[in-house]
Amino acid sequence: VRKESVEPGSFWLGRRPPLGSPAPLAGRHETDVAVVGAGIAGACVALGLARAGRRVTLLDAAVPGRGATGRNAGFLLAEGAEGTAEVSRALGRATAAALRETGLRTRAEVAALAAKADVGWRAKGSIRLAGDEAEADDLAETARLVGKPLETMGRDALPAAYRGRGFHAALVDPLDGEVDPLALLSAVLAAARATGRLSEGYGDPVTAVEDGPPAVVRTARAEVRAERAVVTTNAWANELIPGPPAVRPVRAQMLAARVSPLPAWDRPAYANRGADYWRLVGDVAILGGKRLVGGDTEETDDARPAAPVQPALEALLARLVRPARAEVTTRWAGTMGFTPDGVPFAGRAPGRSRTWLLAGCNGHGMGWGAGLAAALVDAMEGRGSLAPCFDPARRAGAGAGTA
Ligand SMILES: Cc1cc2nc3c(=O)[nH]c(=O)nc-3n(C[C@H](O)[C@H](O)[C@H](O)COP(=O)(O)OP(=O)(O)OC[C@H]3O[C@@H](n4cnc5c(N)ncnc54)[C@H](O)[C@@H]3O)c2cc1C
Repeated sequence: VRKESVEPGSFWLGRRPPLGSPAPLAGRHETDVAVVGAGIAGACVALGLARAGRRVTLLDAAVPGRGATGRNAGFLLAEGAEGTAEVSRALGRATAAALRETGLRTRAEVAALAAKADVGWRAKGSIRLAGDEAEADDLAETARLVGKPLETMGRDALPAAYRGRGFHAALVDPLDGEVDPLALLSAVLAAARATGRLSEGYGDPVTAVEDGPPAVVRTARAEVRAERAVVTTNAWANELIPGPPAVRPVRAQMLAARVSPLPAWDRPAYANRGADYWRLVGDVAILGGKRLVGGDTEETDDARPAAPVQPALEALLARLVRPARAEVTTRWAGTMGFTPDGVPFAGRAPGRSRTWLLAGCNGHGMGWGAGLAAALVDAMEGRGSLAPCFDPARRAGAGAGTA
């Protein structure tokens, strides 16, 4: 059973009405696929399966978007905190390529949704700022390995907003961008509802997922029988599918501030190997990271903002915008799902035939979620196969050393 985690509001959750009502299912139901967890991963899986003609039942302990999806920075980056250079070194080129490919597929999926609904998608590009020479070397190596459209910048060529603030170099991906995460989730749910094949049940945690046949998903009040089940509960995946594979909950904290005059942050920015990140949302600056300052206290699914991370975020903001003054308006946190090797799990759950898993995007589920969900649906529908690096049954780091 899901732990009693504390999931208060966020910058995004405070800006729009809830994306569903707490209306739990009761009694016995039959469906083609039961999807457990209505964040970006579960919603995209539900949409893909409904478009493939399946009747889908989507369940969540709360309402959609109360997990990490309603709490993130909305960066849509093709690569994670570790770029192609670092992933290639640690896990092999094939894994690095599969992750980047997932990011490119996400961009395409989001651009298609953005053509029909305002999801806040802005293809402004992204900038990664190196905090030291070793990171600058890695950014240059990523640019060399990937080639176009990536561009590097030396210290003297950095945008004015970042010159003289301790950064050594930068890497720009001009095709990355940003979204409003809840607007995106809302658009995915609307598209799934429009198929006429989506049923929803929100408010009761799922307590068991049995492989069957048939697959059975249970809550305190309902029993959903299905041909297949998909677990997309991210940080809480092991409560329904005991590990291994292990997904560990890790807190990420953010703040929003009014800064006057507004900094010239023209694109989402990542610094210090993705440990720190910031962007503008209209005339509001949002900034997150500094997790390592908190050490073990951030290994939690308690989504409340707390010291020592919050003061460290304020100090970072002050350093980035000085001499401008910043006034913090909102603080929040969310729970990410981390895997042992930093690569998400997507595929059939180990030892099961009808239960599938998509979880553990390691803090990059906006950039990878929609693309990975599309690939998972392809695999479930027999239209394609997932890269082996995503297999939940893999040995952690099994890809290391492959060229
Ligand atoms: C502060 C912060 C900043 C981030 N910034 C970025 C960013 O800029 N770019 C990026 O790409 N990623 C970012 N991320 C990561 C990103 O938010 C996640 O990777 C992504 O949202 C994960 O989506 P998900 O659908 O897998 O999980 P979630 O959104 O966490 O959804 C899981 C759902 O499962 C439900 N659930 C759990 N247990 C049960 C149960 N037993 N029964 C039923 N339902 C259950 C939960 O209620 C929840 O709705 C950030 C994360 C945080 C916290």
